[in-house]
Amino acid sequence: MKRIILTGDRPTGHLHIGHYVGSLKERVKMQNDDNYDAFYIMIADAQALTDNADNPEKVRDNVLEVMLDYLAVGLDPKKVIFFIQSGVRALPELTAYYMNFVPYSRVIRNPTVKSEVRTKNFGRSVPIGFINYPISQAADITAFKANMIPVGEDQNPMLEQTREIVRSFNRIYKTNVLVECEAVLSDNASCLRLPGTDGNEKMSKSIGNCIYLSDEASVIKKKVNSIVTFPREIDAPGVLKNNVLFIYLDAFCKEDSFEKFYPEFKDLDELKFAYRKGGIGDGRIKKFLYDVLNDELTPVRERRKSFAGRTDELMAILKEGTEKANMVADQTLAEVKNAMGINYFA
Ligand code: ATP
Ligand code: MG
Repeated sequence: MKRIILTGDRPTGHLHIGHYVGSLKERVKMQNDDNYDAFYIMIADAQALTDNADNPEKVRDNVLEVMLDYLAVGLDPKKVIFFIQSGVRALPELTAYYMNFVPYSRVIRNPTVKSEVRTKNFGRSVPIGFINYPISQAADITAFKANMIPVGEDQNPMLEQTREIVRSFNRIYKTNVLVECEAVLSDNASCLRLPGTDGNEKMSKSIGNCIYLSDEASVIKKKVNSIVTFPREIDAPGVLKNNVLFIYLDAFCKEDSFEKFYPEFKDLDELKFAYRKGGIGDGRIKKFLYDVLNDELTPVRERRKSFAGRTDELMAILKEGTEKANMVADQTLAEVKNAMGINYFA
C-alpha cells in the first residue's frame, strides 16, 4: 500500500500555535522521516470562500501568508507538493458526484460543521457551500488517493465522512478506485485541539483568539498576559483543570525548558504539584509560558521574515505544485468516471 500524505489549511488568516502543535509539527516530522510516496499540502482557498464569499481579497492575501508560515516552520518544497485548491479542476467535479452519496440529514449532523455554524453567526443564512464543505474535502483527499492525513481533532468528523463516501462509491460501482484515509493525530492530548487565549475551546483564525507564528515577541507577551485565569489568593491552591496556561505548557514544554527558564523545578509534573499546593502566582506561570513560547517561535519568526517579500518565488512553488496536483487529480477523475460508466468518449 502506498503512503500518501495530504493535508491543508484555509487561507483565512496567518497560522497560529494551534496549527503548529496540532498539525504543522507532525507534518515536518513526517517530511523528515521520508517514509512516504507523495506528500501534498493544499491551501484550501475554495473552502475558505464558503464563509468568505464577500471578501475574496482576504482569502487571496492569505494564500501567501499561509505559504510563508509553511516555509517558516521548515516544510520543504523539495519534499512537499504545495498547491492551491481552486487551481485543481477535477475537485469540483468529484465533489458533484460525491454529493449524491450523502443524505442531507447526514451533512447537517456533522458536529464540527454544527459548532462552526454556531460560532460564525450565520443565523438562518448558512451558505450551501459551507454545509457542503465536508464533501468537497472528501474530493480533496480522494483525488490524491491520500491515506494519511495529519490534522487536529476537529477534522475527525470530516475524515469519517470521507471514508463513508469512499465505501459507498466503491461498493455501488464495484470498484476499488477510491482509497480510505486515516487521521494522523498528535499523541499529546493538549495538542489535538488547542484552546484560544480567550478560553474558547478552540483557537481559530475566524474567532481571532490566536497567538500567531508571525507574532513579535512583544505581542506574544501581551497575549499571554491577557489570558484570563481563575482569581485566587497567591497562597490558595491553583486549579489545573481547564487552565489555559497549563494546557499551553503541556503542549510546548521541552526537556530543557525548566533548566533554561525555571530552574527551581525539574519538570512540568513538579511545577504542577507545587502550583496545586499553592504559593505560585499566575504571573510567574505566565512569564515562564512566555519564555517557553518565545524560545520555540523565535526561529520560526526569523525564518518567516527571510522569505517575506519573495512573492514571485512563493508563487512559482505554488504554480508548479498545482500543475503536478492537476495531473494526479485528472487521472483519479478519469478512473472515477470510468467506474461510473460515464466515460463516453474514452
Ligand atoms: P478557520 O477559523 O478559518 O476555520 P482554523 O484556525 O480552524 O481556521 P483551519 O485552516 O480550519 O484553521 O485548520 C487547519 C488545520 O489545523 C486542521 O488540520 C485543523 O484540525 C488544525 N487546527 C486548527 N485549529 C487547531 C487547534 N486550535 N488545535 C489543533 N489543531 C488545529
Ligand atoms: Mg477550521
